[in-house]
This record gives sequence, structure tokens and C-alpha cells, in this order.
Amino acid sequence: MKLFGLLGFPLKRSASPALMNSLFSAVKQDAVYLSLPTPPPNFLALIKTMHSQGFQGANITVPYKRKVLRALDFISQEARAIGAVNVLAWRGGRVEGHNTDADGFLSALKNEKIDPKGRRALVLGAGGAARAVIFALLSAGARGVFVSARRLAQAAAVGRQFVPLFPGHFAAPLPWDRDALGGVLKEVSLVINATPIGMGAGPGSCPPLPFERLGPGHWVFDLVYDPPDTRLLMRAHRRGARVVNGASMLAYQAAKSLDIWFGKGLGEQALLLWKPWVRAAARRAGRNSR
Ligand code: NAP
Repeated sequence: MKLFGLLGFPLKRSASPALMNSLFSAVKQDAVYLSLPTPPPNFLALIKTMHSQGFQGANITVPYKRKVLRALDFISQEARAIGAVNVLAWRGGRVEGHNTDADGFLSALKNEKIDPKGRRALVLGAGGAARAVIFALLSAGARGVFVSARRLAQAAAVGRQFVPLFPGHFAAPLPWDRDALGGVLKEVSLVINATPIGMGAGPGSCPPLPFERLGPGHWVFDLVYDPPDTRLLMRAHRRGARVVNGASMLAYQAAKSLDIWFGKGLGEQALLLWKPWVRAAARRAGRNSR
């Protein structure tokens, strides 16, 4: 039996194990995908032993997408440029790191017919997922991104990382406060939450955006998918903004993980199987604002 797993901490709310196992049984793969909540002191040691325990691949989630870089024998070019890894594959005795979040995010935008070319975006958060989102936007021709994080130095570091990779585009740090965020809302047409704020049961908390400055000219994309109707999306929807949650990105990035582990083909089958779940989640985005 092939073993795969999800490493993060805590892991209570991830849909990945259910989605992956539903696929393995639908296509009769002799494989299982385990949830592996891993407290920080055990994380690097666990990666070292996983292959000898029979694991062939894993996904990495909060808060380890950057920490994992130091445990790898090979890092794909894209993951290296992004500075974050969300997929591991053990091959020929080596552990490889890949990033499928950036592609997954772009596929989710395409699904909504959002073309980043020429747009300016506001990205909330400066961790692993934020870096993948920024890389994806700039690669797809976005004019630039404002990066806001509660640690301004982290947002500035992200800016310094991407500006040399995308000459002529900008990645500008922004303080994490209502006034600073409000100041750029008129300049951007895309707002992306790449923090875990809002995750968990119930409406949850919300980034400090001045919602009165959002309107029909904005798309608001929340990487969080549980609940599907986060407080951010509800409030943005109420202002007339168009809203997307993280369900389709989750499915696309997971399908791309399958292509890395099994070769091309299984990812496409997975997307077909998961479509009803993604559709149901998408319908619920912003729903409670009506
Ligand atoms: P991460 O590397 O831990 O980064 C999280 C970022 O959010 C950091 O900048 C962190 O700041 C900030 N943050 C955390 N809690 C905050 C709070 N209460 N207030 C303000 N800022 C806060 O995590 P990640 O891997 O980037 O993931 C971020 C979110 O995206 C998670 O909810 C994850 O589930 C989601 N995600 C979804 C998908 C999908 O497919 N839908 C894919 C990837 C990620 P500090 O560094 O100061 O803590």
C-alpha cells in the first residue's frame, strides 16, 4: 500500500484527507492519505523518518511551508523562487520539494475568469501561501502587489524577494491597519486573504479592512475554505464585491500534487470527482450576507 500524508499543526479543519481518500478508493488505488498533525519540535525529525516508514509523498501546510525547505534534497525551480513548498515526493532515496499552490491559485482565478494581467492586488499575509499567490500574480502579468502583514518586516522581506524576479512590477509592504489598507483599496481590483483569519467553525474573525471602501469593482478571494462563507467574504459580498473562497484552489493544488506523485492523469480524474464538493462550497461563499 502507498502511503501519503498531510503535515501541519494544528490540522483539525483540513478537507485534504477526505478528498484524497475518496479519490484513492474511487480509482481503486492501493493508497491511503493520513492526517499527521505534527507539533513543531517533531516536524523535521518526522520528515527524515517518513520514507523508511513507507511514505511516498506528503503535503505540507500551516505553519511549515517555509520551515520544510531545510529538510529537502531537491527543490523545484518554482518552489525555490516562491520560497515555500507544499508537496513532498520521495524518489530514488531523495526527498523533493515542489509548490502547487501558485498553479492552484491561478487555476482558481481562471475558473472565475479573472485575468491578473495589468491588475494591482492587495495580499493579506506574508507566509508560504502569500508568497505562492504573489509569485502567481506577478508571473501572470499583474502590475504589482501590496503585501500587508502584522509583522511589517516580513511583508518587506517578501517585497525584497520578488522585486528582482519581476523587474518593472512592484511588491510593496503595507502596515497591517485599517487606514493603510483603506488607502490602497481604490488602487487594487483584487484582495486576497492568505492568512488563517476566519478559519474554523462559525463566522470567525476578519482582517481589518475598511469594508465601506469595497465595491463591485473588487474581487475578494479568501484562501480559507472552511467555513465556505467566511466573515471576510460575507462583509465583502454585502458591499457588492465579487467573492471566491479557497475550495477550488484546494482542489486544483491537490490535483497537481497527484500528478507529481502518480504522473499526469490522476489529477484530472480527481477534479472531476471533487467537482460537486467545490461547487457546493463556491455556492456558499458570501451566502450568509444575503
Ligand atoms: P503561514 O505560512 O503560517 O502564514 C500565515 C500568514 O498569516 C503569516 O504572515 C502570519 O503572520 C499571518 N497570520 C496568522 N495569523 C494571523 C492573525 N491572527 N492576524 C494577522 N496575521 C496572521 O500559513 P500559509 O501556509 O501561508 O497559509 C495561510 C492560510 O491559507 C491558511 O489558512 C491555509 O489553510 C490557507 N491556504 C489555503 C490553500 C487552499 O488551497 N485553499 C492553500 C494554501 C493555504 P505571522 O508570521 O506573524 O504569524
